[in-house]
Amino acid sequence: MQKETVTIPARSGKAARVERGQSVTVINTHGSQVVDTWAFNAEHLGEWMSMEHSRPYYMKLRPEVGDTLVTNERRPILTLTEDTAGGAHDTLIAACDAPRYGLLGVTEYHDNCADNLTAGLAELGLTKPVTPSPLNLFMNIPWTEGGELSWEEPLSEPGSYVTLRAEMDLVIAFSACPQDILPINGRAGQPTEAHFRID
Ligand SMILES: [Zn+2]
Repeated sequence: MQKETVTIPARSGKAARVERGQSVTVINTHGSQVVDTWAFNAEHLGEWMSMEHSRPYYMKLRPEVGDTLVTNERRPILTLTEDTAGGAHDTLIAACDAPRYGLLGVTEYHDNCADNLTAGLAELGLTKPVTPSPLNLFMNIPWTEGGELSWEEPLSEPGSYVTLRAEMDLVIAFSACPQDILPINGRAGQPTEAHFRID
């Protein structure tokens, strides 16, 4: 059983194996860092935590404490058991990737969450089947009554955290989002490290 705190380096990805019943605590160490989060069935990576399947499962735009996220096969995979970060998380926005930065006017390679997922899983000898839509922890994307979205800064405080309980044996993967053009990681545009722990 893994007890030490693991660093998700700034702009980078990290993955770990988690047994059913274990809890993963994701810490927003500096308070302003979005952490893209994915979970895959450890037995077959073709089953993954799915935002579009989870929203109808708990009938909300974002999960709250007590809500269970499900897979693309509609089976429970993670339950949100604790949240000291204020509840602003996103399930609507795809992981950033190379074309996303192209649309933002970046002409050279830019670190991105899709590649960080690839790299994080590769450290475990695994290959991602696709880049599922992530659970964007600490990402603050409020919506209006008219359905409009906006890019806002995280509301979380330094050291605040989210705890997720594994409902199956799974592989969890994180990306400390390297987005430094939009203000989702704070107006300073300086992505930072984050941490996680498995209990
Ligand atoms: Zn990102």
